[in-house]
Parts: sequence; C-alpha cells; structure tokens
Amino acid sequence: MGTTETYVGRSSCLSSLILALLFALAGSPGASGTPPAYRMTLDVNYAEGTFRGELILTYENHSTVPLEEIFFRLYGNARSLYGTASLDVGEARADGESVIVSLFANNTVLLVPLGRPLAPGASAEITLSFLGRAASAPPEGGFSSESEYGLLLKSSHALTLTAFYPFVAPYTEEGWAIDPISAVGDALFADSATYVVTLRVDSGVTVIPIADEVVAEPDGRTRHSFHRDALRDFSLVLVDDGRQPLVTTADGITLRSWFSPQHDQAADIALQRGAAAIEVFSSRFGALPYEAVDMVEVPLQRAAGVECSGLFLVSAAYAAEPRDVFFDIIVSHEMAHQWFYAVVGNDPTEEPWLDEALATYASNIYLAAISPAAAQSERSTWSSLYDWVRRDYPDLRVTSPLYDFPDSATYSAFVYSGGALELDAIRRDIGDEVFFQALAEYYTDHALAIASGADLFASLSHACACQLSSVLFGSESATGP
Ligand SMILES: [Zn+2]
Repeated sequence: MGTTETYVGRSSCLSSLILALLFALAGSPGASGTPPAYRMTLDVNYAEGTFRGELILTYENHSTVPLEEIFFRLYGNARSLYGTASLDVGEARADGESVIVSLFANNTVLLVPLGRPLAPGASAEITLSFLGRAASAPPEGGFSSESEYGLLLKSSHALTLTAFYPFVAPYTEEGWAIDPISAVGDALFADSATYVVTLRVDSGVTVIPIADEVVAEPDGRTRHSFHRDALRDFSLVLVDDGRQPLVTTADGITLRSWFSPQHDQAADIALQRGAAAIEVFSSRFGALPYEAVDMVEVPLQRAAGVECSGLFLVSAAYAAEPRDVFFDIIVSHEMAHQWFYAVVGNDPTEEPWLDEALATYASNIYLAAISPAAAQSERSTWSSLYDWVRRDYPDLRVTSPLYDFPDSATYSAFVYSGGALELDAIRRDIGDEVFFQALAEYYTDHALAIASGADLFASLSHACACQLSSVLFGSESATGP
C-alpha cells in the first residue's frame, strides 16, 4: 500500500551497519509441496455491487502436524478496512461431507472442521458457497465510511473486488495466521495459490484483468474464464465507463494502464513509469512470474495506491495530477509490491515493514534512475519523518508489529520512511553490488513462499559475508561501528 501522509521535521543521522551479537535465523515455510488451489464460480450483479460464488479449495497440509480444521479469512467483514462491505458463507463441505462452520473475530475468521485429521502431506477439499456485497459509495461520490480504503467498493463507474472471497489462512510456525484485523496498514496475508475462476456478469461491463476466455451467453451476460498461477490474491476491477487500456511490454510482461476517460494523461504517464519500473526491478531483483500487470484507477481513500497480485490500484484523486513526482512514486511503489508482496509474501501484521520498506526503497531506486534530485529529496523527507517519530516514540521500531503503532502517521514514518532509510544505510555500508546481490537472492529463494525479516537479513549476511540482524533494526542504539 502507499500511504498519503507527508510530514516535515528535522533530519537526523541514520543508523549504520549493524554487527549484531544476536542473529536468529528463523526458518520460513517454503514453497515446497502443492500450493492451495482455488476453483471459483462467481455470479456478479454489477449494478448492485453484489456477488454470489462457490469456491472449491484443494489444500495440502504443509505442516508437520495433523490438522483438525482449516481456517479461512473473511476480510470483507472487517469494517475498519472495508466499510459496509460484507461476506457471508453459506453451505460448507469438507471432502464432500456437510460441516458446521464457526465464525470468530467479528466474522473475519471462519473455522471449517475436517471430518478426520488431515495428515502432513495429505490433501483435503473444502467447498464453500458465499454471498458478498461491496460497500456502496454515495451517489455524489465518496465512501460508505471514513475508515474504508475502497478495496471492496461499488462506486459510480467501478466495482472494486479485492479480498472478496474466503481466503485460506496461512499456516505458519506459530500455527494458523488469524490475527485480528487492524485499522492501520494492510491485513491481507495469504499463501501463493493457483486460481481457476469463472465469472459471469452483464455484457457491457469491462472486466480487469482480461480473462483467458470471454464468451457471450444467450442471456445477455458474458462468461470470463481465468487460470492463474502464483497469485497471492485474485482481484478484479469491473468498470462501465468505456475505458480502454493503453498497452506496452516491459521485460516480457504485458503492462496495461486502465484509467478513466478524463485521465488519459495519467494513463499514458503510468504506462511509461510502470514499464520503466519493471525494467529496473527485473534487473535488480529478478523476473516476475506474471504474463501481465494491470494498473487500474479507482476511488481510494487513506491510500494513494494498493497492491494486488498482477494488478494494482491507483487512487483517482492522484490520477488528476500525473505530472507530480508523487504519481511516479505511487506507480513504482505499487509495482515493486509485485516482487515484495505478490511473489515474496510476508506477514503484514507481525512484520509489516518487510514488504513496505522494500517497496518504498525500491521506488526510490527507480526514482534515482530518472531523477537523482527527486530521489534525494524523498530520502530527506523520510529522514525528517523518521527522526521525528523516533523522538516521540522511543519504544517503537521499524520492525514493530502493526498493532504496536498508535496511528497511520506513526506507522508510515517508521515502516515506510524509517524502513527504507535503514535499507539505504545498509546499502551504503555493504556496497551496491553486495546489496543488490542479497535482494536478488532473497527474491529468488523466497519466491511464492512467505519470508520473514530474518530471511532478509540472512540473505544480506550471506551476500556480505558478515552478520546483519534485524534485532536492533531501527532502534536508537542501532548505530554500528
Ligand atoms: Zn506499500
């Protein structure tokens, strides 16, 4: 996600290389085994912003213990992030047998019991029917509540469908990842998965991304069929404003820019910036496993952009000022999340800094390639922000979990600004070649898996043949020798 907050404060020294006494390498769940496989049928009522679906999940137990149940997340019920949207699960079956499900955490956690324990390495098939409703924007524009981002929203010309179906929760070393959903930051935490999706909607509605197969049906509706691998989430935007994409290719990836007709200049600039960002990040980190990336303008609030897998959202408010350098930052930041979020996952509640600091810093690397002065100016702003919050919150760190931050501004200043600055400090200490070798190794080693901060520091330590640790990352005492 890209936040909108900017602040002014004093600049400060940055922490330097950390030769830590403590170095803990926590293993991460690997990408071995068969990833979760979703088969979904969706029937969308575009005008109403509602959808009815059936999901069949084939789930292999990658843990070392038998599982008695499988937990799902129903993100759409988190009012703090999704406003008045809702997601209700109806009938549930486990390996063909009807089961009684339970809801927890304000209906954001769904427990599906298994008829018999699922042994390590064995697979179960869970079937869920569901009914969802996007939050409905007022006719004059705006949002259904002050807190929502616009991630599951029916607005005047778009139906944004992110996190709109039941997600199987990741099973980590601590067990099922079912943290309560915060009102700050991102919530979506998912395994990389395979999706086979068939969606039906009224003909005339444009479906983004473009399906593999599009077939008009006799009842005036159109069937859109998708088969996608390696997605952290399957997200869609449906529009009816006649927008057409601008298309280019970059490093073998088809890039599509979907902006509303009144923002054609933003569409063109996003296409250029997005393509350039793909070139920079591919050369620095490695190739993306996606055939296409779609950039889509939608109404958002509390965020300038939001990352999905193979797709990202750009706030309509910022599409009106595409020549501002902040527009470059939005596009490149969300693009960087394709590497650090979509391909390499991480826990956005326990370690929100991991993908956000990397995406923020990657965006600055892109910016430095086109405007060194703008990149330097951004780093100076980060420095002011980071210095300010470290003075006001001496107990917080870049690496603090999401729930420790009192508000979005403090979260942003530590996690985005401070996190990117700490990475910059490490880069200057170990040198460009070693630093980028480490990031490429981190990306390759944890592609399609869930990584931890310890994994990133292991890659950095391996590349520099020294010991770096996140233990002191971002603290006042982190200044190294
Ligand atoms: Zn972000």
